[in-house]
Amino acid sequence: MGKHSLLSASVSLRWLSCPPSARLEETMPKTSSAYADEGTAARQLAELVANYQLGNTPQTRYEDALKRLKTGQYFTPEMFEHAAGYARLVMREATRHTSPLIALEVEGLDYSEWAPEGRGTADCVIVGDKTLVVIDFKYGKGYRVDAPGNSQMRLYALGAMTEYQDICDFDSVRMMIYQPRISGEPSVEELTAPELLRWANEYVRPRAALAFADEGEFAPSEAVCKFCRAKEQCRARTEVNLKLFDESPDALLLTAEEAGEILKKAGDVKAWLSDLERLVMTALFKGEAAPGWKLVEGRSNRRIADEPSAVELLLAAGVPETDIYDRKMKTITTLEKALGKNRAAELLNGFVVKPQGKATLAPITDKRPAFMPESLIIEAFEEEN
Ligand code: SF4
Repeated sequence: MGKHSLLSASVSLRWLSCPPSARLEETMPKTSSAYADEGTAARQLAELVANYQLGNTPQTRYEDALKRLKTGQYFTPEMFEHAAGYARLVMREATRHTSPLIALEVEGLDYSEWAPEGRGTADCVIVGDKTLVVIDFKYGKGYRVDAPGNSQMRLYALGAMTEYQDICDFDSVRMMIYQPRISGEPSVEELTAPELLRWANEYVRPRAALAFADEGEFAPSEAVCKFCRAKEQCRARTEVNLKLFDESPDALLLTAEEAGEILKKAGDVKAWLSDLERLVMTALFKGEAAPGWKLVEGRSNRRIADEPSAVELLLAAGVPETDIYDRKMKTITTLEKALGKNRAAELLNGFVVKPQGKATLAPITDKRPAFMPESLIIEAFEEEN
């Protein structure tokens, strides 16, 4: 993993949209999470498998390294399958070009021509036939990341174009995000080299200069603040969210249209309120004051402390096993983790059904198709016949 610069590519959505966030975040402590550690383990495995498939790692070294990675706390057969999927994608992309140069885990990609001290690490770079391909492997599954318009990918591509400019005069750039726990197919953006450079010169350079100099305007929004280290304490975000409630509607009763307008503006409010809760709780845990608030014990469920002995006792008392045990099949996800996705799919072929999900409210820009309640489908069908 490469070292992070102030204007690192992975947080570029933030400093490009909200330039003062860069210096503000610098003052906040960095934290790691189990998700981040799991992602690192998955990337190491993906790099190992891809290097082996490319013939860069001899069999014995590969087997030794694989054995070591398998002992890691995050390793699962599912992780291995996704690593193999990444390796297949790298091979597939490489075969699209004649005599390509393929580099994995490319550290020190320098895009400082546009963003001061900007350097990053790309998972895979392929150079061939005047095309630059940059692939990023993401193991997260809670938050989908798309390639179109993705500044992290574009900054890696700028760094890679600079790195390989002496061996190739690039016409086009293909940027791919492979997020296998969300989709088996990568999300792709293709730009011509002049398009990418125009974006870098006209958009990145001035925004990066503001961020580096700790200037520019704060620009809070749901997407931009989501992973900001200052999100709990950021006053700019607080002010914007509080202002949302200044306007009072004219009529006594709200219409759905007015409610929709408020919801559109309030995208960040729910997340902001949980962040404030966390801020107050952390203070109380540290013994600091937060007037009007205290910590209380949450609900907890009773449980049997020594199950084997309790079962023995119940059986001895003549209680039938069916009254003691509640045998339930494990979820598909757990089975997939244990068996691997392919084997689970093979064995459960024909058994897996997907019932219609519950209707959820989403902005009109959401990529999912609009939900049609069953009653409306039947009504429409009856009208047609
Ligand atoms: S919380 Fe949001 S508005 Fe505040 S610095 Fe971070 S990204 Fe900018």
